[in-house]
Amino acid sequence: MPIIRLSDNNTLTIPAEVAKELGLKPGESVELTPAEGGYLLARHLPPIAPSAPVPLAESINRKNLATPFRFIKGVGPKLAEALAKKGIATVEDALYLLPNRYEDRRELRKVGKLRPGHTEVFHGEVLTADTVATRGGRRFFEAIVSDGSGTISLKWFHFNPAWQKKAWRPGRKGIFTGEVAQYGYQREVHHPDVEWLAEDESLATVMARDPFNFGRIVPVYPLTEGVHQKTMRKVQKEVVDGFAAAAVNPLPADIVTLNGLIPLPDALREVHFPGESATIEALNEGKTPGHRTLVFDEFFFLELGLALKKRGVTLEEGIPFAVTHKYTKALLQLLPFQMTNAQRRVLSEIKGDMMAPHPMHRLVQGDVGSGKTLVALMAALVAVENGYQVAIMAPTEILAEQHYLTIHRWCEQLGIAVNLITSSLKGKARTEVLARVADGTAHIVIGTHAVIQEKVEFARLGLGIVDEQHRFGVIQRGLLKKKGINPDILVMTATPIPRTLAMTVFGDLSLSVIDELPPGRTPIETRIFFESRRPQVYATIRDEVGQGRQAYVIYPLVEETEKSDLKAATQMAEHLQQDVFPDLKIGLLHGRLKPEEKEGMMAAFKNREIHILVATTVVEVGIDVPNATVMVIEHAERFGLSQLHQLRGRVGRGSAKSRCILLTPGRLSEDGEKRLQVMEATTDGFRIAEADLEIRGPGDFLGTRQAGIPDFRVASILRDGRLLEEARREAFGLLEQDPALERHPLLREELVKRWGGRLELAGIA
Ligand code: ADP
Ligand code: MG
Repeated sequence: MPIIRLSDNNTLTIPAEVAKELGLKPGESVELTPAEGGYLLARHLPPIAPSAPVPLAESINRKNLATPFRFIKGVGPKLAEALAKKGIATVEDALYLLPNRYEDRRELRKVGKLRPGHTEVFHGEVLTADTVATRGGRRFFEAIVSDGSGTISLKWFHFNPAWQKKAWRPGRKGIFTGEVAQYGYQREVHHPDVEWLAEDESLATVMARDPFNFGRIVPVYPLTEGVHQKTMRKVQKEVVDGFAAAAVNPLPADIVTLNGLIPLPDALREVHFPGESATIEALNEGKTPGHRTLVFDEFFFLELGLALKKRGVTLEEGIPFAVTHKYTKALLQLLPFQMTNAQRRVLSEIKGDMMAPHPMHRLVQGDVGSGKTLVALMAALVAVENGYQVAIMAPTEILAEQHYLTIHRWCEQLGIAVNLITSSLKGKARTEVLARVADGTAHIVIGTHAVIQEKVEFARLGLGIVDEQHRFGVIQRGLLKKKGINPDILVMTATPIPRTLAMTVFGDLSLSVIDELPPGRTPIETRIFFESRRPQVYATIRDEVGQGRQAYVIYPLVEETEKSDLKAATQMAEHLQQDVFPDLKIGLLHGRLKPEEKEGMMAAFKNREIHILVATTVVEVGIDVPNATVMVIEHAERFGLSQLHQLRGRVGRGSAKSRCILLTPGRLSEDGEKRLQVMEATTDGFRIAEADLEIRGPGDFLGTRQAGIPDFRVASILRDGRLLEEARREAFGLLEQDPALERHPLLREELVKRWGGRLELAGIA
């Protein structure tokens, strides 16, 4: 170990061979920072170019994680192909192909003691074995096995009779593994694994001969067709033994120790082939130190990237708006009500962002009816006061039209020009509107995704507002941004996204929450009604209408184009009109109506010309008719929780008591029943969202991949919420200390590797 000294003139002389070893070149600058047990020497790195592919032979030698998986001992072309289909191409991929559960094979269980519902390992002798035909004409193969303490039936439903008969000779002894099921008095195992004992072989010899598969807790890998667990274990053992050590963990040592993590190679070894210390429960719940380490690692780099992106935004030059109060004050005077405290707070957060010299990227989350539109309009007015244009993008035509009507009504009195662009705006009218947008005479432009189409050019876009963000992907948000020069972006969502999920999906946005409803609202009473009580449901509607109120009857429409569903809604409207409420006025609203028809229908309902509106889910978002106090949801079991919550939010918007009736035929799936019960129990959007996430899982929660939920290799947002928060805290904390990661070159390199080109905003890649 060469000794390095600081000389009197404050220079450091490093022996040439050390410099070479470190890869330092003349002229390069380095930085020295105190670290655990010494000093950390960090090179100021130029931007990192993607590394050139390493020649194959060399890559194996160097235990390179990019080594093709097919080079692993025991991996034949068939296995390589099967796993390639699962996206396993390199040893690194294989290292992160974790067992999805574990089996405790430390002890063999007596046949008499086998527990139904458990995967058990037992030893026994074949008593009888043969093909059995059922009365229904199906065939299965059955073997009866005993160890003296009891007998059990092993069954196969897919098998080769001759081959099976030859293997399962009476008197033959083996070790069997499989999940035990109980049918009446009989316990059975279907399609068990078997390890035969040779004639003269003892049980102990067999167990010792195969230490990967017996006498320990064994991993069970997610399988593809034609790949056996045993093969997977053998191959994974090769991978782990050969390459786990090459998985370096660039996390700073203090973060590792403070969070109870272990070195990455150990973590990988532990999760694939657990040692003595792990319990089967902790393993199956993914809570061992090994699992925690891998999960933390994954979350940490995600959050580090998000933190950098967020910082990247602040590096961009934006528009420093001035708050002149010219229009905002005037609007407040026009309003028949006061803003709620929550609206005021969120608005001042938005104004703060708008005044700053870098672009705003803010998410406003507020439950249905919390008054997001007003907040958005106030922000829009600030931009207009500064001579800029505003674009407001809504997910459906109906909603865009409604925003247009509301906003147009206020703005007209303020002398601000509002225009609507949807796909149904055509011909000359469209050309005219586009011209006004392009020359800047249109101040506020409201529309569907038509707003971000190529042909739409803004003279001076200063603020882009996206309503109901979860319906749009990150891509659309980006396109809107490109319509101006670094305009401010405000996204609004009524989907109360659980905190953990919000952190991953919108982690690069600042968050404001409108956590208060305007005063005078009474909670909605929600009840499940079975089909048999339909007359009572109609009586309720009649009663409310008798008091001057209005009602919605919602029909599920799986897809806007589903004709049969549309027919059901249409027939329902006819039936209600002719047979049930001949004296009342019934309207029908669905997505296939022409925009004018939809608008006319909504206007008629708003003006109380219609008593009962039969509608498909087009009313789900944003429609605002405070006089409607009853909502009946037909086939409520077919809707998702968030959707039910959104629908229900259409009532309870005035001061009168509102009701929501969930009609269902009565045959409910387990999930369906859970969903309806949650709806009955609470109107709190956040609790509903949490329950929804739990029932559906995160991938499904926001609809699609394009919503931007990253794919995790190991982590689960549901299971690992706490770790996500810890990882986020550490990542954001670290970046505060070292904003450009200059003192953490390895971290920086790893981050670039994992995020690829997606960090362009942060100016780091
Ligand atoms: P959402 O947040 O679901 O988009 P909206 O913006 O549609 O809610 O507002 C719901 C209703 O509440 C509208 O009728 C709106 O005029 C009204 N509203 C908004 N803010 C207030 C307030 N501070 N006081 C009373 N009513 C309000
Ligand atoms: Mg809204």
